[in-house]
Amino acid sequence: MGRRLKESSTESESSVLEGTNGHDLNPEKMKRDKKKKKKDKHGDRVVDSDLQSTEELNRSSQKRKEHGGNGAEAEAITNKKKKKKKEKHERDALSEVIESGGSGADSVANGKDEEVRSGNVVVSGRNVKDPKYSPVELFADAKLPEPVLECCKGFTKPSPIQSRAWPFLLDGRDFIGIAATGSGKTLAFGVPAVMHVLCKRNSKMSKGRRPLCLVLSPTRELAQQISDVLVGAGKASGVKSVCVYGGTPKEPQRASMKSGVDIVIGTPGRLKDLIEEGVCSLNEVAFVVLDEADRMLDMGFEPEVRSILSSTCSVRQTVMFSATWPLPVHQLAQEFMDPNPIKVVIGSEDLAANHDVMQIVEVLDDRSRDERLVTLLQKYHSSKSNRVLVFVLYKNEASRVEQMLQSRGWNAVSIHGDKKQHQRTMALSLFKKGTCPLMIATDVAARGLDIPDVEVVINYSFPLTTEDYVHRIGRTGRAGNKGVAHTFFTKENKGLAGELVNVLREAGQVVPASLLNFGTHVKKKESKLYGAHFREIAADAPKAKKITFDNSDDED
Ligand code: AMP
Repeated sequence: MGRRLKESSTESESSVLEGTNGHDLNPEKMKRDKKKKKKDKHGDRVVDSDLQSTEELNRSSQKRKEHGGNGAEAEAITNKKKKKKKEKHERDALSEVIESGGSGADSVANGKDEEVRSGNVVVSGRNVKDPKYSPVELFADAKLPEPVLECCKGFTKPSPIQSRAWPFLLDGRDFIGIAATGSGKTLAFGVPAVMHVLCKRNSKMSKGRRPLCLVLSPTRELAQQISDVLVGAGKASGVKSVCVYGGTPKEPQRASMKSGVDIVIGTPGRLKDLIEEGVCSLNEVAFVVLDEADRMLDMGFEPEVRSILSSTCSVRQTVMFSATWPLPVHQLAQEFMDPNPIKVVIGSEDLAANHDVMQIVEVLDDRSRDERLVTLLQKYHSSKSNRVLVFVLYKNEASRVEQMLQSRGWNAVSIHGDKKQHQRTMALSLFKKGTCPLMIATDVAARGLDIPDVEVVINYSFPLTTEDYVHRIGRTGRAGNKGVAHTFFTKENKGLAGELVNVLREAGQVVPASLLNFGTHVKKKESKLYGAHFREIAADAPKAKKITFDNSDDED
């Protein structure tokens, strides 16, 4: 079985700014890209960027076969040639900038792998010690145009991921961020995305403009959240973001795409549909963000992600955020990124929970969970106004627990993949506004969602992985607040007891004897290369399958 088949949950104008801080068109990156395209000039082998050699065509044909290509190969090759020609044209148009660029391209290509450690941040990759990549300590140090920094006005200084990511992203480097949502990562890639649009758009802010940046998100709710941040971030500088995701009618999304877009944020299924319909063209997209990449693959979206990435400019900057670093994500990065991406790890390399969360684990019989949940709500939710999030594993379990609580007089909503999208959006909105501060959720809400002031998380069912446990309890204890996570653990979960004990110990929490009784054996091995983020999954292991739901309002 794929590791997580329980829930698909997702399906799935402008002013021209002057003075863009010398980040215009990223000369180093373009020089590198030019080199990449012109290819190895070693010995006799000089590959014209415009004409593909037979060998290359064979190779790409083989690659297409491997990735499930079909008889439309000839057409694909012709399209590829056309695309290459267009890209060459683009590169030529930029060549003046390239010529005036510094010598940084060579220093990246020939530079050495370095590592910088400071506090709980590890930065690794080529030339990361170069002073131009020093962390941005203050917003003013970023030397960004005023309208772009407008979105940061409420904050005193860049968050650690922003301070580390901006110098690399504004310099055009491919980037891997291992950071959980809550770290300020949306603006970490959002501000450079806005800058990318402003640098590229120049005076061409036409009505039917095509997107220049793409952000892929595993879940609809996360896509909406990212979109809210990016709409805000681009507002003062006229950068327009559009969000496309399944479960809602396509027509408004088609209309938005047609009216001109700078940044498109989407879930893989719906975005692929719109691309296939010809409504969304990504061939000008040269800045791509894969947010929660690990979750995207877990949910079985790998084919869609591959297909979408292939339809963007091959000369592009790719940014990947992932909370963990499993092998499939690593393979995707190897395939679609520069060979030398920057990697920034924020927080512990080991699987670690937020230390602001008090973790209580209770071993019990699964049939006693309903009564125990009600007792806990009387304790944690007596005011009936504080936010409490109850996690379950299955969609039908979410409905059942919601009904059980409602029948006992609790004002509760639920969010899960069996609900229509408007019901999911409504439930989340009621919970966020506090109109209904008790929400039952499947792991659709475990990651990424920035819900303010969740005081208590109750794990009614233990998740399938300890990583998910860490994500779930991370919904509380945010922004320096303290939180409580109360977890039911049953004998069915005993295989994860060892990992849970380690998470509790690392955070200095009480480990109940009843949990230790299950043993402390941990199956997971740690990779020397990828630390605890590496999961021991064979490359040929069966892939997770995307489960689709026949929601009546799903128009995927
Ligand atoms: P994210 O990780 O992007 O979901 O952001 C989590 C929360 O951090 C959001 O509520 C943001 O508004 C907030 N945030 C983003 N940047 C900063 C910053 N520099 N300082 C403080 N909070 C921030």
